[in-house]
Amino acid sequence: MTELPGRRLLLVHAHPDDEAINNGATMARYAAEGAQVTLVTCTLGEQGEVIPPEIAHLTGEALGSHRRTELAAAMDAVGVHDFRSLGGPGRHQDSGMMGLPENDDPRSFWQADVDEAAADLVAVIRETRPQVLITYDPNGGYGHPDHIQAHRVAMRAADLAAEPDFRPDLGAPWTITKIYWNRVPRSVAEESFARLKDVLDELPFSASAAVDDVPGVVDDSLITTEIDGTAFAGAKAAAMRAHATQIEVVEPWFALSNQLAQPIFVVEYYELVRGERGGAQAGVRSGVRSGVRETDLFAGISEVSA
Ligand SMILES: [Zn+2]
Repeated sequence: MTELPGRRLLLVHAHPDDEAINNGATMARYAAEGAQVTLVTCTLGEQGEVIPPEIAHLTGEALGSHRRTELAAAMDAVGVHDFRSLGGPGRHQDSGMMGLPENDDPRSFWQADVDEAAADLVAVIRETRPQVLITYDPNGGYGHPDHIQAHRVAMRAADLAAEPDFRPDLGAPWTITKIYWNRVPRSVAEESFARLKDVLDELPFSASAAVDDVPGVVDDSLITTEIDGTAFAGAKAAAMRAHATQIEVVEPWFALSNQLAQPIFVVEYYELVRGERGGAQAGVRSGVRSGVRETDLFAGISEVSA
C-alpha cells in the first residue's frame, strides 16, 4: 500500500466556490505544510447565477462544466491537487435555492438517497483515510438544500466508513478522529461589517450584506477552533477570484451575484463536533480547557502514516 502523508484532511462541500469562501486559507495552510488535503464537491453548481455579462448565457451543464475549470484554478491557487466530484462529475445536480422547482428534479442532489450518496463518499474516506473532516452544520450554514444534503451525506459517510460490515468492497474500515463544522463567530462578523460600513462608498458593490447573510454565524462560545490563515490571505483571495462566475473580489471584501459586500475572513473558524479538543491545554482539567480555542485542526492527533 502506498504510504500516505501523516496528516490528512477531507472537506465536503456543496458547490464549487464554497471551499474557497469557507476554507481557502485553511486548505492553503495545510497543503503548504505537506498535509494531504482532499476536497469532495457534491454538485457542479449548475444553478448558480453568473456575474460576468460576457458569459451570462452559461446555464445548466455548460455552466457546470465551466465551474469545474474554475474549481481547478482555485485549487491551483491554494496548492491542492486532490479534488473530486461526489460520485463523478455530474452525478448530482445543483438543487437551486430552497423552494425552487429544481429541488424536485430527480437528478438534483436534494433528491439523492443519502445512503447511496454516502457510499460514494465512504469509498473516498477509506482510500484517503482522513483524521479530520470539515463540513457544514445540519442547516448547511444557511439553509441551501445542497448544503444541508452535503452535511447529511458527510456525517452519514463518516459513520458508515467506520463500520466493518458496510460495503467491504469499498475498502478497509476507517474512523475519522475529528469532525468540524464551518463557523463564523458573531463578534468577528459584527466587527467586520462595522469596518465595511466605513469603506462601502469606495467599493463597486451596491450595498452591504448583513451579519446573518453569512453562513454559519454563531455565538462565540460555540467556536472551538480558529485557523490563522493570514499568511495565506493572497492564496484565499486568488482561489475566490478563480470562481469568477460566482464571486467578485475587492480585497479584503467580496460580493456574490447579489452585489452585496461581505468580508473575506482570513482567520477561519470551526466548531469541533466529534472527537477531543487537543492542543497545549490537553490534559488540563476540562473546566480550564473549555474556553481555549484550538489553533490546529490536528491538535491532539498523533501522526500515523495510515
Ligand atoms: Zn454553495
